[in-house]
Amino acid sequence: SEMWNKACFLSRLVASSVRVSQSAGDLIKGILAKGDLGVIDKGSETMYDPQTEADRAAQYLIVQSLQKKFSKINIIGEEEKVSKVEVLEDGSSVDVLSLPFPSDLSSIEESGDIVVWVDPLDGTTELARAKDKTSIATLQQVTVLIGIAYKGSIVGGVIHQPWSFPSGASRTVWAVRGLGVHGIEVAKENKEKVIVTTRSHGTATVEEALKELERRGLSTSVERVGGAGFKVLKVLEGSAAYVFASPGCKKWDTAAPQAVLEAAGGKLTDISGRSLVYSADIQKNNSGGVLATAPWVNHSDYLTALPDELKQSLPEFIARK
Ligand code: AMP
Ligand code: MG
Ligand code: MG
Repeated sequence: SEMWNKACFLSRLVASSVRVSQSAGDLIKGILAKGDLGVIDKGSETMYDPQTEADRAAQYLIVQSLQKKFSKINIIGEEEKVSKVEVLEDGSSVDVLSLPFPSDLSSIEESGDIVVWVDPLDGTTELARAKDKTSIATLQQVTVLIGIAYKGSIVGGVIHQPWSFPSGASRTVWAVRGLGVHGIEVAKENKEKVIVTTRSHGTATVEEALKELERRGLSTSVERVGGAGFKVLKVLEGSAAYVFASPGCKKWDTAAPQAVLEAAGGKLTDISGRSLVYSADIQKNNSGGVLATAPWVNHSDYLTALPDELKQSLPEFIARK
């Protein structure tokens, strides 16, 4: 189309990512409706890490659709096993294409300096648990995450939620650096300081961090919910912070959430305040943990409150085995 021809490369990539995330969401909904999730455990002896046919099919759709259009970029997806369901999406979002991009972004050309981090289905544990398919309270924790980095820094991203609460309708939240957040009403403040954290990957260090924040008056209550994407949506809608003082969360979990949160004025770092780096050769693990704060919250208050020994127990990089 004319709009596509006029748009810069990054606009085309974000516009395609929005459309592709929506198709992946529809695919996930269809697979759950059929009822056969085909769950396998890709975890270790000590940690259950489920993968379903929905994860595999969504990964295929997202990675293949984007790579077909943008052959020069790097795409890193969570899943390795390939799906039997091979669906592609060629569309793009007119909302994105019609937006003027700032000159620092419109001058970016298609190259290997662009890395797209894909979590085709964040919140798999929660999806696999949703035996009652009508339970939107559980299914709202599932998101499709596509984060875009240029030379290691986040420049845009999409969080698509196939089931939003309470209606069960889907919604797509996307952002570009300097162009704000679209598809969500961002909370401006909250008297309560609600902390969101993991529901299924709790550890002693996670609990220690939560206790310390409560003691310092930075937490009035804790909500344990699934998914990095869902937790950042909660932070955008009124929770104060997402705290995960433990390794285990990966770059594809934080890329899109960071894009969306920071375009809204919030901040996402590890628990020591170090920026996450998203270049292609970087370690996948966010071994320094995750601290994400709302736009109305002072990120450094939360950083300062976390004890040094706790921070030191979570190094930025872990030795390769
Ligand atoms: P959670 O907050 O537990 O829902 O985790 C957010 C994201 O990080 C999900 O995609 C999890 O699968 C991932 N994650 C967190 N901790 C671990 C872990 N110990 N092992 C594997 N994945 C993890
Ligand atoms: Mg995930
Ligand atoms: Mg996943």
